[in-house]
Amino acid sequence: MHVYADNAATTAMSQTAIDAMVPYFNGIYGNPSSLHSVGQEAKEALDAARAKVARCLGCEPREIIFTSGGSEADNQAILSAARYGARKNKRHIISTAFEHHAVLHTLQKLEKEGFEVTYLDVKQGHNVTARQVQEAIRPDTCLVTTMYANNEIGSILPIAEIGAVCREAGVSFHTDAVQAVGHLHINVKEQNIDMLSLSGHKFHGPKGVGALYVRKGFPLVNIIEGGAQERGKRAGTENLPGICGMAAALEESCANMDANMARVSAMRDKLIAGLSQIPHSALNGDPVNRLPGNVSFCFEGIEGESLLLLLDAKGVCASSGSACTSGSLDPSHVLLAIGRVHDVAHGSLRLSLSEYNTDEEIDHILRVTPEVVAYLRSISPVWRDLQNGKRQYIL
Ligand SMILES: *Cc1c(COP(=O)(O)O)cnc(C)c1O
Repeated sequence: MHVYADNAATTAMSQTAIDAMVPYFNGIYGNPSSLHSVGQEAKEALDAARAKVARCLGCEPREIIFTSGGSEADNQAILSAARYGARKNKRHIISTAFEHHAVLHTLQKLEKEGFEVTYLDVKQGHNVTARQVQEAIRPDTCLVTTMYANNEIGSILPIAEIGAVCREAGVSFHTDAVQAVGHLHINVKEQNIDMLSLSGHKFHGPKGVGALYVRKGFPLVNIIEGGAQERGKRAGTENLPGICGMAAALEESCANMDANMARVSAMRDKLIAGLSQIPHSALNGDPVNRLPGNVSFCFEGIEGESLLLLLDAKGVCASSGSACTSGSLDPSHVLLAIGRVHDVAHGSLRLSLSEYNTDEEIDHILRVTPEVVAYLRSISPVWRDLQNGKRQYIL
């Protein structure tokens, strides 16, 4: 059996999305900026895709800028808010300790330029509260940027409450919603969101394409200079096949959202209940406000990379944390941020599901994971020390 349980890293494309792309490779290949009929046909497709994305977020089409993905959208949103803040002598930004690197590294760049960043603590409940945001806001705060939902541990942040706090204080609010769009109900107006990043390949669309929602009137700064595409805010000939595929995937995900949420979260809960039976294990992330597809555990006395390789040999594709940090020996900054010590953080497993998974696959994961954990513990010197009392159990 082959089980793909790494949907937080990327998803399989839906047939709907593939079908929506094909015409723009071999028929409607025009440049949307060309004035002739082939170009204008492409322009119509671009407009239609923009309208679809806007409908799914509850905004106007003119508030959507297409980008090369979630990372670019995060960079542009944060850098824009920082430039705007600096003009008014506001150089303080609020974020969280468990953001994606697209956000964290952009903030680190700004810190080198003299911005001050408050990273909200996420140990309590593996989440943040709107109260924490409120207490961190200062007269010189120019931006609050918090993710909508965490890619490693699945916690869903209280976005509407944070949005309300920011609106009340007159501070701009950006959210990296890459893990949430297509999976959770979002309305940027009701939730007082000024900017929101999304990425096609996290909801069965293509890779290398995403979007930034920007509230009308917010002064966006270009990070790519050139032509006047995307209302002059993002130069470069549009990735029309990608944009049409992403819009089709999003429309499909939004149409089936309630059914997908119910089915995927039932599979998630079965996995969590089953894996919790493994001794000296702990669930990572908010147990209640949690992405429908996220299962994240730490198992004491084992090494996450070995666990992954053995699971792969048994047909299960999983992750130890985020795809972006695998390959590095440092434990995940997210697991450290929620208070897991190094040894425990190294024994992590993330299973991320989608509506393409089946109950049989969940049963297979529940059969093989406890076996693999037990085997790795049987050959682990750390586990032996724990067992004969030379080391103390943490979990
Ligand atoms: C995947 C991901 C990104 C990056 O999106 P890309 O389209 O791969 O650049 C950013 N933030 C979060 C939370 C993600 O999960």
